[in-house]
Amino acid sequence: MTFQALLTSKTGDKITTSMVSLSEQDLMPGDVLVDVDYSTVNYKDAMAITGRSDIIRQFPLIPGIDFAGTVKTSAYPGIAAGDRVVANGWGLSQTHHGGYAQQARVKGEWLLKLPATLSTKDAMAIGTAGYTAMLSVLALEHGGLTPQHGDVLVTGANGGVGSIAIALLSGLGYRVVASTGRLEESDYLRKLGAADIIDRRTLSEKGAPIARERWAGAVDSVGSHTLANVLAHTKYRGVVTACGLAQGLDLPTSVLPFILRNVTLAGIDSVNAPQQVRIEAWARLARDLDLDKLARTTHVVGLAEVPAVVERLFAGTIRGRTVVDVN
Ligand code: NDP
Repeated sequence: MTFQALLTSKTGDKITTSMVSLSEQDLMPGDVLVDVDYSTVNYKDAMAITGRSDIIRQFPLIPGIDFAGTVKTSAYPGIAAGDRVVANGWGLSQTHHGGYAQQARVKGEWLLKLPATLSTKDAMAIGTAGYTAMLSVLALEHGGLTPQHGDVLVTGANGGVGSIAIALLSGLGYRVVASTGRLEESDYLRKLGAADIIDRRTLSEKGAPIARERWAGAVDSVGSHTLANVLAHTKYRGVVTACGLAQGLDLPTSVLPFILRNVTLAGIDSVNAPQQVRIEAWARLARDLDLDKLARTTHVVGLAEVPAVVERLFAGTIRGRTVVDVN
């Protein structure tokens, strides 16, 4: 019995990804075998497949940092054949074969049973990007933010994290300001729940270390000068989350937003988040995310199309979330 997969290989400095036919014995050790239904394309997948960042640590490897599917066999307590499961992060696409395949064998502790109201397709429409958006919302709440405190800014608004953060926050009653480089997508952003839209160029250059108070909170996936300016404009006792580096991995800021405005900067990591945090995030996604809005952010491609999608992601022409139907 063979199955289809994408395989990323390295020859010298050259990284290539192609469709291959594999069998169960080609998979890595693990106590659960999953029939994968869907995977997805995240920014990190794009970095992995193109080798722009050293995400993949051993070659050849099946990329794909997440997948959702149905358990075929399990030797892991609490997970049984027939369970619908999701996996995000851990070693997937780094040291362990990932989700761009029709089958995956992984450690049971990496799997989470899906809430009953979410299909495996919903789970990958959410994907690591949406789950990271939820982790960001949880961090805002942990910092004490409520809709009564004022506007919340979402940067990288048309991206995966940004689109789902807008849908989540507006559903929770926040007035959301979306920052984007694609003002022509304003209609889409308003339908997701953005009340106001700003041009990302107003945040992307070096600015003053502290400036007029504009928002009570922010979900940032962009980093660099953008995050520095977001902090400078955050209101007294505001909360800002940082999960990404779409503009850059530097953070040219000062301590002023922290020591004058009592601003909190909360870091977000989805890859090694403890299981309890993941369970809470997925339960909240099932409760708080409007599935009609989710469908609006999503388009579906086949496995073979992933390398082309990755190029479009870097070109900035992908909007929202890309689900990969591996079958
Ligand atoms: P996407 O590529 O889907 O979205 C990124 C968005 O950022 C783009 O759509 C664009 O939005 C904006 N953007 C791109 N380039 C720039 C730039 N030079 N300056 C300002 N804005 C820019 O990526 P994801 O949403 O999947 O991920 C976003 C970031 O979060 C990535 O850096 C990713 O690595 C990180 N991430 C981190 C995780 C973690 O665990 N910490 C988990 C998931 C993601 P627009 O066109 O609207 O301006």
